[in-house]
Amino acid sequence: MSGVETKPLRLSGSQPFTQQPGVYIMIGERTNVAGSPKFARLIKEGKYEEAIAIARQQVENGANVIDICMDEGMIDGVAAMTRFLQLLGSEPEVAKAPFMVDSSKWEVIEAGLKCLQGKGIVNSISLKEGEAKFRENAAKVRKYGAAVVVMAFDEDGQAATYAEKIRICERAYRILVDEVGFPPEDIIFDPNILTVATGMEEHNNYAVDFINATRWIKANLPHAKVSGGVSNISFSFRGNNKVREAMHSAFLYHAIAAGMDMGIVNAGMLEVYEEIEPELKVLVEDVLLNRRPDATERLVEHGERLKDVGTVVTEKKAEEWRNGTVEERLAHALVKGMDAYIEIDTEEARVKLGRPLLVIEGPLMAGMSVVGDLFGAGKMFLPQVVKSARVMKKAVAHLTPFMEAEKAAMEAAGQVVKAQGKIVLATVKGDVHDIGKNIVGVVLACNNYEVIDMGVMVSCEKILERAKAEKADMIGLSGLITPSLDEMVHVAKEMERQGFKLPLLIGGATTSRAHTAVKIAPHYSEPVVHVLDASRAVPVTTSLLSDESKPEFVAKHRADYEAVRKAHSAPKQQAVSLEVARGRRTPIEWRAEDLAVPEFTGVRVLDDFPLETLREFIDWSPFFHTWGLKGIYPRILDHEEQGAQARQIFADGKALLDTIIAQKLITARGVYGFFPANAVGDDVELYADESRETVVKRFHFLRQQANREGSEPCRSLADFIAPKETGLRDYIGGFAVTSGIGVKELCDRFRAENDDYNAIMAEALADRLAEAFAECLHKRVRDEWGYGRGEGLTPQELIQEGYRGIRPAPGYPACPDHTEKGALWDLLDVQAKTGMQITESFAMWPGSSVSGIYFAHPQSRYFSLGKIERDQVEDYHARKGMSVAEVERWLGPNLNYDPAE
Ligand code: SAH
Repeated sequence: MSGVETKPLRLSGSQPFTQQPGVYIMIGERTNVAGSPKFARLIKEGKYEEAIAIARQQVENGANVIDICMDEGMIDGVAAMTRFLQLLGSEPEVAKAPFMVDSSKWEVIEAGLKCLQGKGIVNSISLKEGEAKFRENAAKVRKYGAAVVVMAFDEDGQAATYAEKIRICERAYRILVDEVGFPPEDIIFDPNILTVATGMEEHNNYAVDFINATRWIKANLPHAKVSGGVSNISFSFRGNNKVREAMHSAFLYHAIAAGMDMGIVNAGMLEVYEEIEPELKVLVEDVLLNRRPDATERLVEHGERLKDVGTVVTEKKAEEWRNGTVEERLAHALVKGMDAYIEIDTEEARVKLGRPLLVIEGPLMAGMSVVGDLFGAGKMFLPQVVKSARVMKKAVAHLTPFMEAEKAAMEAAGQVVKAQGKIVLATVKGDVHDIGKNIVGVVLACNNYEVIDMGVMVSCEKILERAKAEKADMIGLSGLITPSLDEMVHVAKEMERQGFKLPLLIGGATTSRAHTAVKIAPHYSEPVVHVLDASRAVPVTTSLLSDESKPEFVAKHRADYEAVRKAHSAPKQQAVSLEVARGRRTPIEWRAEDLAVPEFTGVRVLDDFPLETLREFIDWSPFFHTWGLKGIYPRILDHEEQGAQARQIFADGKALLDTIIAQKLITARGVYGFFPANAVGDDVELYADESRETVVKRFHFLRQQANREGSEPCRSLADFIAPKETGLRDYIGGFAVTSGIGVKELCDRFRAENDDYNAIMAEALADRLAEAFAECLHKRVRDEWGYGRGEGLTPQELIQEGYRGIRPAPGYPACPDHTEKGALWDLLDVQAKTGMQITESFAMWPGSSVSGIYFAHPQSRYFSLGKIERDQVEDYHARKGMSVAEVERWLGPNLNYDPAE
């Protein structure tokens, strides 16, 4: 830039901030809900005081600017941004720094801008939605006097290559400077730092592309600045902080040399460039600078060695605990969940204490009570507890033969091990899923409850018989799908009728406190308590079984549920009539060119589908949720509190997955098909062939009626298929896949070895594989349907479902009627072709299964049906040939009225 001196970026909080030549600006990322799960949690819980402390810490740690982002589904962005910024305004130590208002929603950005004192930065605007929108937003940013981050995005998406980056940045620059009159020194380009070393050749040059684009921008777009999100570069090495830190600093070293002005980075994840060990530095730079084709492989290999070195060291240290007393060793093994020495130590304790019972009541119980306390206090995570329980079980298994030998004598002396209480657990009739229940069972068992787990699909009669026979202290019911709610009501009524006096616990995915209070509790005189998740089970059971705390607990519980019922009897939702709703269908202009023609029609079977292929399609986030760790993969691996746990279960999970794949321990099977179809009202007719004369099947869809403000469309899935009267040839598809074959046997094997940890792990993996199968098959389907060919999405983009077409599942929000699975089963002949069955509640068996319906229209999208009115129920009953009462039973949670009224 010959001769013209570059104008520095000037910002301000309560104090001015001027960019110094050659000094890199650090933008703190911990006040970003996407970057810090802790911050996200504090905001969600309304703990603004603590959230402010995070902002303060960042400024103290040297962040020049702090990035503030509230973009998260459960957070009201406008309200949170406003409140947080207003509070920060009165924190002088924080308010002195300039703020970066970060959101993908314009209204959140604007809310932020309204609260800023001084001059901040908007993050971000782009050409994603076209020039008009871009100009409009830029002009507004200008009006508020802020600087702006411009992402290298345009109407076609994200700029990945050098050529795309500079083309888009130049175009944006010209619009901003020439048309909007934006000061060029206030334009900060973010040319996208994308992940390298992914194993995909086309990603190898990403770092080089960014660095070159930076150099070009600084040379050709006068005064403009360059920024970027640094940790993205090393995503493929998550879990290996040593490599990541080295990558971040080496990358910054080169990018800053090329002119990068600032970046969002976790300052704690930066190694000093000069201190990167020389061998690692070469390998890292080989990758970043794309210096050799095998660079990734070499770095991966080296990275693994670094990790190994790490574990050897900790193992050596770990062995020191072996020097403690036997009681200390047992406690240590329990708290750490290590079973390597448990039998030797248990035996030593038995000999030392003289009797097996004393070992259980003494050191083992003491260890488990530490585990229980730590878990209760949130200091231990679910996977650790499950591992502790495994150690406990193994110890008890070792002692059992000795106890049996002693039993007669003990009973004579009245010294039987006294459990806290006995609880019968079951997944109700018609439902197959039990992973949550299994976890609750383990958590209770390790708190010294005797747990009788009856498994899945258990009828009311069996549950109650067993509870009587065992003289149980409590019953716990679990269910995954909505029809199970009704079955739980039935169990409660039966307990009342038969005069049971036990508390009833309710849990599982579709259950809720509201449903429990309103629909179940009123039918049974004893306490009926909804247990949100495994970590809440023990406090509830303990209170209910203690003579001291029970009265207080029950009184509070009844008052709570009474309040829930009151709140619930509030006015129904605003709704339009079915007739009006039908007049407001999704506006789609039907054109032949939007309708893709599949390669074939009819059904195809996928037998023994390769698990190795499915593995790449796994969305890992829900795996961590199963284990009680909240967060998004891969970020969760670096989480400050949960990261270590997450890495451990991830490693264990992947190892078990390796074994499952290598030894073919489970089998994946599926079936799918395409059919000529047209919409007729809210039904979709499927035809035998292209003559479209014979209807072979009909899907029945429902339409949104409640909370459709103004002229918002009232959607139905039927809207996405060309209506018959258009005369257009449209198609629909369907699928059912399972990866649950063999899972039960595998879990039984683990349980036989007292290894609940791996049993739960196997179930969690099987669930992941089933979802991955759905994703993988959907990809194939889009190809075979034509419109998906060449979409070229990364696994990450696939998981985010950023493609054309949807695969809604019957029983889920867009089509909550589970019974439509019956039509799908017939259509695809699922049972005969795959062995997958549907239960009387329309749950799929085996458990790890997914099914759905394919829609290909570019405007098809997921939505939630919400509540429906009586007029639609009446219409639907006629269409389905089901009684109104039956429809009301299946659609219970969706009714906008009380059928009893
Ligand atoms: N990647 C996630 C997918 C979870 S479920 C995982 O691995 O667990 C997502 C699926 O639910 C979608 O693929 C679709 O089949 C279904 N789905 C999502 N939203 C829906 C809606 N509104 N109505 C019906 N089905 C829906």
